[in-house]
Amino acid sequence: MEAIPRSREYIFRTKRKVSRTGVLLVGIGGNNGTTVLSGILANQKNMTWQTKNGVQKANYFGSITHAGTTYLGINKEKNEEIFVPLRSLLPMLHGNDLVVDGWDINDMPLDEALTRAQVYPYTLQEQLKPLLKKLGKPMKSIYYPDFIASNQNDRANNILPGNKCCIEHLTQIRKDIRTFKAKHKLDTVVVLWTANTERYCEVLRGVHDTEENLLRAIAEGHKEIAPSQMFAVASLLEGCSYINGSPQNTFVPAIITMAQQRKLFIGGDDFKSGQTKLKSVLVDFLVASGLKPTSIVSYNHLGNNDGKNLIEEKQFRSKEISKSNVVDDMVHSNNILYSCPDGKDKPDHVVVIKYVPSVGDSKRAMDEYIASIFMGGAQTIAIHNTCEDSLLAAPIIIDLVVLTELFQRIEWKVCDNKSNNDNFGESLPGSWDSFGSILTILSFLLKAPLVPDDSPLVNALFKQRGCLENILRACAGLPPINDMHLEKSKG
Ligand code: NAD
Repeated sequence: MEAIPRSREYIFRTKRKVSRTGVLLVGIGGNNGTTVLSGILANQKNMTWQTKNGVQKANYFGSITHAGTTYLGINKEKNEEIFVPLRSLLPMLHGNDLVVDGWDINDMPLDEALTRAQVYPYTLQEQLKPLLKKLGKPMKSIYYPDFIASNQNDRANNILPGNKCCIEHLTQIRKDIRTFKAKHKLDTVVVLWTANTERYCEVLRGVHDTEENLLRAIAEGHKEIAPSQMFAVASLLEGCSYINGSPQNTFVPAIITMAQQRKLFIGGDDFKSGQTKLKSVLVDFLVASGLKPTSIVSYNHLGNNDGKNLIEEKQFRSKEISKSNVVDDMVHSNNILYSCPDGKDKPDHVVVIKYVPSVGDSKRAMDEYIASIFMGGAQTIAIHNTCEDSLLAAPIIIDLVVLTELFQRIEWKVCDNKSNNDNFGESLPGSWDSFGSILTILSFLLKAPLVPDDSPLVNALFKQRGCLENILRACAGLPPINDMHLEKSKG
């Protein structure tokens, strides 16, 4: 192979005024919904609470935009590394400034839903409840029983009439978005699905392929239109970006095109919070070390309502697909370890999920990795991870919204006169353009990143972080992190 170095100059520009932003959560009454909403309120009010280990203060740990840093350079006198908060690179929304509301098929008032979730300690719940009580109940949602597990049926008491898609449902969701925007005088609204995992929909020609067909199918009450797709369509028609925090295939071709035509963002699928996050580090570590994973077995049990919904085969299948592809890019990156052209030497990868009510939101993830090492030996790594599901997902939800709002303000172009003009056959914007509608930059936060057909799918966690960090650095005029440490050499 011959590699020819090229250089090309990109210019980024960022509108500096952060827009007043609200997020509408689909599934606000659930564990993630109440945890993220309450976490923001607790931070807004600087709440503290007593634990057996002492006083705990509200924080945003687990949010890359609030608790992540980036390397700035070295201090000349002492050759010390200086790190700055990631959020100091560019004007960014703060979690405390987010306005939150949402829909749920269950009518439990939010203060009671907080108790039901059993996520926060009692003393914190007691402080939060009066604030949540003022917010009342979630907005009525849509419920098409075939899409989530039948065991969710008894929760569905806060729904718009009708059990299949229709224009009235779309109209009402659009109205809810407009009302929320006007009531809080918002510039930007992001809609985010954190409701139960739906089954996959069967993607059909004539139904899911074009906007026209999709809208007609909705009007005709087609059985393969999922509630999540109704929310995505309503959001895009209202000029709002839409994020999918669950694994189902909401983003059918018609919805992707709708976003592209309106220059809005869509991002998904499925929050990357616990077991998969660890997997996307561990497999990377093994493969990058020249060790060959041959088997990855992931067993989980959880006892929250998400776990209950995943008991049924179709919903479990959505989750299984989302969890299964996360090692593919790392395997593909090393054709010394994985040399079979037909992929027959790919690691065995099995995912098991069980519902055990008594563990509640403290999901237990037990993984066994076996790797082939020097001279035919084997290394076995067994991990027990207590995931605290919603406490890991809530800061990710905040990041998804913060970054989506930020990327709505960033534009880029290729500076032609400084580039050596060979575009490798690509069409690159010579004038200002926004990022593509499929917001791959959010991949760090998502288990099964949605990427455009012509883009590589990256699951390795630190490559994903590097992408995000380096784009933010570029926008601030800093070079990408290269880890060569040349600036530290005294010679
Ligand atoms: P949950 O069951 O506690 O909450 C989901 C809520 O959605 C419930 O209150 C339910 O009533 C509501 N709901 C269901 N269908 C709805 C609809 N059509 N419209 C409005 N509301 C609806 O679950 P959770 O633990 O909050 O998780 C939410 C989602 O996030 C699940 O799909 C889960 O798989 C996904 N997820 C969670 C994590 C995590 O770490 N917590 C990680 C990845 C993905």
